[in-house]
Amino acid sequence: MRPEIKRAQHTIPVGASSPLRACRNVGTDPLVVAEAHGQYLHDVDGTRYIDFMYGFGPLILGHAPEAVSTAIARQAANGTLFGTYCTQEIELAERITATADHLEQLRFVCSGTEAVMSTLRLARAYTGRTRVLRFNGGYHGHFDLVQNKDETRMRDSGLDPAAMRSNVFAEYNDAASVERAFAESPGEIAAVVVEPIACNMSLVMPEEGFLADLRRICDREGAVLIFDEVITGFRLTYGPASNLLGVSPDLTAFGKIIGGGTPVGAFGGRRDIMRLLDEERVLQGGTLSGNPLTMAAGLATLDALAQPGFYEELERKGALLEAAVERHRAAKGLDFTFTRTGSIFAFIFVPQAAPVRVKADVAAQAQSPYTTMYAGLRTAGYHLAPDIEEPMYVSAETTDETLEDFAARAVALLATDP
Ligand code: PLP
Repeated sequence: MRPEIKRAQHTIPVGASSPLRACRNVGTDPLVVAEAHGQYLHDVDGTRYIDFMYGFGPLILGHAPEAVSTAIARQAANGTLFGTYCTQEIELAERITATADHLEQLRFVCSGTEAVMSTLRLARAYTGRTRVLRFNGGYHGHFDLVQNKDETRMRDSGLDPAAMRSNVFAEYNDAASVERAFAESPGEIAAVVVEPIACNMSLVMPEEGFLADLRRICDREGAVLIFDEVITGFRLTYGPASNLLGVSPDLTAFGKIIGGGTPVGAFGGRRDIMRLLDEERVLQGGTLSGNPLTMAAGLATLDALAQPGFYEELERKGALLEAAVERHRAAKGLDFTFTRTGSIFAFIFVPQAAPVRVKADVAAQAQSPYTTMYAGLRTAGYHLAPDIEEPMYVSAETTDETLEDFAARAVALLATDP
């Protein structure tokens, strides 16, 4: 173990400020990174790794893109926090709200967790109800209302059982389970919160009609439909993924990409719901919310994303990776599932013929192929997601040669797994 890891773990629980970074689920020591540029991370020894994690998703432009770094430096020289109105905040809010009709108003916060938390509070105030329906396998941050702990472990985990009882669970891609949940709690469910494309149980796409069913059920039941687009927002298109999926929620939570690699979250949606913040009936505040540094990084990022052909190029790279994985997989006669949409991808170690629709389908996979692939690719100079159910990302900096090499090596390693 590197001395920095030991040192980190002495002072910081697990050694890092977010638990997955400890790499406990892959049994390999975490990297200790000194700097990062383009598609590369450089560790403290100067060893170079090609990244497919990109900080859990925000870095769609790769590491330290010049335009974003310059915008951050310029803003830092002109003040990082004003504590009053600033034009950067107005500009970024206007740019984001212009991407979808339902985004009539928007507020900034400092994390995806805060963004989702605020949408749920709004939904409760708007409906006068308390319960929240969510999906097994979804992740919406670390506050009580969106945790998965079973009742018996709640107090051990520091969770409030009352808050947890407000949680109603259904299965992703299973509208009948949503219907049952509403039937069991009539008039009590304030909101349905969903990742429209599930990115925290590997990568699972919504089946045809599933999101439309959620829209119809919420409308009928008077519940607020919330899309958690912390990962998918601006990842697949210039705006929320709901623009591609053909279903509009009432509220959307953003994070990650819109802050250009600085701490960010945002939530927005229908003016008649957001009005509760205007009336100060619902509270959301934050010393650093909408700070000019983050806003400058976000604006520079959106400038790059708005360039013609940006998302088409990412799609081309994603398709190249998928085709290369499929080619090598077929050549080796292996049977596993590779899921991809745009620049998000995941390996799921279930046979290709097996359904991948709900959390249980993903949870059924064996862990060892991923651990083998992770360790082998680390040795070969790649940095992958530290958990089998985290998706990975292609960035604007990922080269075609990287994608070809990665696919060949990944599949060759999988062929060695017993
Ligand atoms: N929602 C989704 C879909 C996420 O993937 C995450 C984090 O990965 C969050 C919310 C929480 O965001 P943050 O880590 O910025 O609090």
